[in-house]
Amino acid sequence: MKYVYLAPLIALSMHLLNAQESAVTAGQVVDKIKNELTCEWAEQTVDDFKSGDPSSNITGIATTFLANLDVLKRAKAKGLNMVITHEPTFYNHFDEKERYGDDPVLQAKLKFIEENDMVIWRFHDHWHRTTPDGIYEGIVNKMKWQGYRQEFNRFIVPEISLGDLASQLKEVFDARAIRVIGDPEMKLKNVALVLGAPGSMAQITVLRRDDVEVLIGGEAPEWETVEYVRDAISAGMNKAMVFLGHAISEEAGMEYCATWLKTFVKEVPVEFVPAEEPFWIPE
Ligand SMILES: [Zn+2]
Repeated sequence: MKYVYLAPLIALSMHLLNAQESAVTAGQVVDKIKNELTCEWAEQTVDDFKSGDPSSNITGIATTFLANLDVLKRAKAKGLNMVITHEPTFYNHFDEKERYGDDPVLQAKLKFIEENDMVIWRFHDHWHRTTPDGIYEGIVNKMKWQGYRQEFNRFIVPEISLGDLASQLKEVFDARAIRVIGDPEMKLKNVALVLGAPGSMAQITVLRRDDVEVLIGGEAPEWETVEYVRDAISAGMNKAMVFLGHAISEEAGMEYCATWLKTFVKEVPVEFVPAEEPFWIPE
């Protein structure tokens, strides 16, 4: 008799044990990340929780370039309620929601986040500061340019025209709206990356180097770096610039982040959910 009653009890306790083993909180995931980084954790950083309770158990992790509402919906549909985003959730670098008041777009997003218990954590500063920089690593891997690498962001590629380079990039990133400044027939070998939106001086400082002909970047104010490149060309210099767009220029870095996370977060599924390129261009 005893035997009959013990069996379900054993099964139940085994089940609870397994559930306990697989449980992980959002805060514990962040602790694991901090443990794996090669850089010190900065006191002042934008890398923190933008929504949700760090002590809540999570069902899965989505990594993305940017936690827009569409990404949140797709993550939720996949059962992933923790979203690790590279860029802000609320339209400014410090995620200050107050400035929008009762803005209907903000309210719609907050409503979805709340109703679905979405935990959002930003992973920007330290993903760049760890060695290797996770964003650059993901992009360089995607371009298959590791063999051309001279420095962390400088490459010598087999000679190619600017037009062909731009076409290659369009294909590699499956992009619609890459923008290029320079002569498509220009021959080049020396390329540098300055991804994202680090400010025009970060781009210009690299572009002015003698060993850089073409800069591949994310975005810039059009009256800053863009006009600097046009003036360089007018002054007779062999310079050009390719703007991938911010999303395209960094998204593969968050795909790589999912691969990296899977090596030490085993309790829940981890998946890359692309934010995708925001722009299209008319035919
Ligand atoms: Zn970045």
